[in-house]
Amino acid sequence: MHLCRCRRSRCTLTSSALAFASGLATTVVVINTLKAGDHVICMHDVYGGTNRYFQKVVQNFGVEISFVDCTNVENLKAAIRPTTKLVWVETPSNPMMEVTDIEACASAIHSASSAFMVVDNTFMSPYFQRPLALGADVCMNSATKYINGHSDVVMGLLSTNRKDLYDRLKFLQNALGCVPSPFDCFLCNRGLKTLPLRMKQHQASGLAVAKFLSTHRHVQKVLHPAFEDHPQYEISARQTSGSSGMLSLYLKGGLKQANAFLSNLKIFTLAESLGGYESLAEHPAIMTHASVPEAEREALGITDSLVRLSVGLEDEADLIADLDNALNVAFSENKDQ
Ligand SMILES: *Cc1c(COP(=O)(O)O)cnc(C)c1O
Repeated sequence: MHLCRCRRSRCTLTSSALAFASGLATTVVVINTLKAGDHVICMHDVYGGTNRYFQKVVQNFGVEISFVDCTNVENLKAAIRPTTKLVWVETPSNPMMEVTDIEACASAIHSASSAFMVVDNTFMSPYFQRPLALGADVCMNSATKYINGHSDVVMGLLSTNRKDLYDRLKFLQNALGCVPSPFDCFLCNRGLKTLPLRMKQHQASGLAVAKFLSTHRHVQKVLHPAFEDHPQYEISARQTSGSSGMLSLYLKGGLKQANAFLSNLKIFTLAESLGGYESLAEHPAIMTHASVPEAEREALGITDSLVRLSVGLEDEADLIADLDNALNVAFSENKDQ
């Protein structure tokens, strides 16, 4: 038993956790609790690999998936069918940083169906958000990201307070062979020891970078759940105890400027992944979310002007100077748009 850091006083949770070979292997195991004819509701904005697995693989096995904007719980309620067996939510979402009210969704799901609710907690890590304390049945983390934090392990984790689900997931972990290697477990356990220190720094630098960018002349808009102008700011403040180093921004330009910006960064590395000690920048429309069909990308707001940042642990002033320089060079080289 351990003390829970959620905002409810004296909340204690006894939960069971399982480790898997990757975050995606974890998703595969969750999906294997289902059978043909079952229906899944998935948050419309999710990790690109979750979207790809659901649309391009799971649907071939006779499992139906509805992608729903769960930031409005009424949309979720309307999508529940008698066959709905799983609701998959990611909050904040990737890359639009949309926040879903975990408590409201959990109670809507549990009162209307026998479905179980999984929250992909990767962007927050357990340090800033505790989905089980808010009513979710299963919490999923790609430990590849913040939990390991050193960008040298690929691993996924599930935790649950429900014995029936734990038993089924544990059986599937063995039956499907999606287990992590002992050495990766050793490395991840090493990374976990500094999680609180790292998360505090990711939060501080993430906010400093977001504030700097929000007033930059070449930046249209910054998406950060701790900003008061974020559409779900209140929900985020209620259900989290902080924010990570994840943010997205719209440039005041198109693909040319975005490319030039990304290629002129010197401290931020142009790469997918997130949550490590090093700062990363990426272009969702071309990189992490390229497998999301174009029309759906556009509807979500994943345009050519959108850039996602994972703010790492380097010196804050260096990070800001790097972004400032890359923005200024990108826009002076490409004045035509
Ligand atoms: C990376 C990621 C995953 C998948 O994790 P892997 O360990 O890379 O397989 C799932 N969800 C989110 C939000 C992620 O960022």
